[in-house]
Amino acid sequence: MSFQNPVFIPGPTNMPESLRKACDMPTIDHRSPLFGQILHPARASVRTILKSDTAEIFIFPSSGTGGWETALTNTLSAGDTVLVARNGMFSHRWIDMCERHGLEVIVVDVAWGAGVPADRFEEILTGDTAHRIKAVLATHNETATGVRSDIGAVRRAMDAASHPAMLLVDGVSSIASMDFRFDDWGVDVAVTGSQKGFMLPAGLAIVGFSEKAMAATQTAQLPRTFFDVHDMAKGYANNAYPYTPAVGLMNGLNQACEMLLAEGLDNVFARHTRIAEGVRVAVRAWGLDLCAESPDLYSDTVSAIRTPEGFNATDIVTHAAKTYGVAFGVGLGDVAGKVFRIGHLGSLTDVMTLSGLATAEMCMVDLGLDIKLGSGVAAAQEFYRQGANASHKVAAE
Ligand SMILES: *Cc1c(COP(=O)(O)O)cnc(C)c1O
Repeated sequence: MSFQNPVFIPGPTNMPESLRKACDMPTIDHRSPLFGQILHPARASVRTILKSDTAEIFIFPSSGTGGWETALTNTLSAGDTVLVARNGMFSHRWIDMCERHGLEVIVVDVAWGAGVPADRFEEILTGDTAHRIKAVLATHNETATGVRSDIGAVRRAMDAASHPAMLLVDGVSSIASMDFRFDDWGVDVAVTGSQKGFMLPAGLAIVGFSEKAMAATQTAQLPRTFFDVHDMAKGYANNAYPYTPAVGLMNGLNQACEMLLAEGLDNVFARHTRIAEGVRVAVRAWGLDLCAESPDLYSDTVSAIRTPEGFNATDIVTHAAKTYGVAFGVGLGDVAGKVFRIGHLGSLTDVMTLSGLATAEMCMVDLGLDIKLGSGVAAAQEFYRQGANASHKVAAE
């Protein structure tokens, strides 16, 4: 693997030099006003990126998975019922965590490539007249299949059923790359991590809690220590943590938020859409299909690409690493061997993306797939040329 090439895995993502430097800082007293000058602006910026006025932001030394655990253990009790769809490996893992915590899980299994079925949720919630269901869990962007679900539609389904359940959303591979509307969608807990849209090393679980979720923490009985938001809030009131924070990463988070907000969230989202669309026109030119079933589900952060029947898609990933020093994502779980994934989120440009598409083409031709060298790249080049003026403008500002 060459350190000079960008990675095309859907997290950890490529790190801008400035953020690497921001994480590399001298030791400071992590119980001091100086630490507060890192902590409080980082929390405020994350709140802005979530598009919330009031969410309580907590940042744990952990990863996205710790964010899932924070969401569950602070708001629920053993035996509580939750409603969740399984449409890929990440939703599957969150379900597994619910089961291991002794929750009653109503799982709606859909195809790996489908989105969260808001209409099925509405039926189930409408039928739950006793309000046994305490929380609806939704994975905004299923990273295994490249499927973005409509969280606004999930909220509308809950409202249509007049159901008081909380809405817990995994935004690990969407937040800071694709539009996320904590307040508008009535999200109660949002979960993300540092190593995807925030362009940092792994090491932080970042969560937002609504007022309703904060109220639920008063009665939730699931055991929690490391991820207890009450302990965390007490620490924050004194510019501190209940334990030792990852100060360098938090400094990086602060800078990452500044970068994103300076570019402008709308510009960040438009850049991800444009880059993703370039990947999609390339996939079409190759004559291949995305795992996502329909265009409304296409993710702007990761594309899972189906390879022809009888071909092991994982060979592309292995070959790319060995031969060209480039990292792509393998298929996971039910779609292992059937798809390979191109991650296109975080610190990425049109031109970097073209290098990934060119590499994928070389691999597919090397491995005997019926694909013409340059076909996908040319299609993406045509597409990116049209958007070039817009991207120069962003860079110049
Ligand atoms: C990466 C990811 C996770 C897991 O996060 P870790 O930081 O690896 O613990 C969870 N959900 C989604 C959608 C992800 O993409």
